[in-house]
Amino acid sequence: MKVVVELPPMFAEIDKVFHVAGKQVIFAWNDTIFNPHGATVTPELQTHEEVHGRRQHGDPVRWWTLYLADPAFRLQEEIPAHQAEYAEFCRTHADRNHRARTLHMIAQRLASPLYGSMTGYAEAMGYMRKTVQTP
Ligand SMILES: [Zn+2]
Repeated sequence: MKVVVELPPMFAEIDKVFHVAGKQVIFAWNDTIFNPHGATVTPELQTHEEVHGRRQHGDPVRWWTLYLADPAFRLQEEIPAHQAEYAEFCRTHADRNHRARTLHMIAQRLASPLYGSMTGYAEAMGYMRKTVQTP
């Protein structure tokens, strides 16, 4: 995916729901990551956004419209993205403790107000533990 330092399309609609103006948030739009504040895009985050880009199936307007309106759809999209992010982390980090801290951080983000608190932490950990890991 290419990364551009720009606001994504539909930013006004996105900001109305998530209040992300001025925050270091990145946005998937087809084959592009919009990174308006030039935040660091780690390989794990790149993998996360790739899942969104793929699942937009060439129609990011439809995907974003559903994503903004429907917390159940949003959760259904964020679970595989967060799982892929963690799997990518595990692929490049063998240390058990580092993995455990990262798992906790990613689950916390999945349950966070950033996504409209669409799930609880314990539930998020449950989803994350189902991540298919390469050894
Ligand atoms: Zn996401």
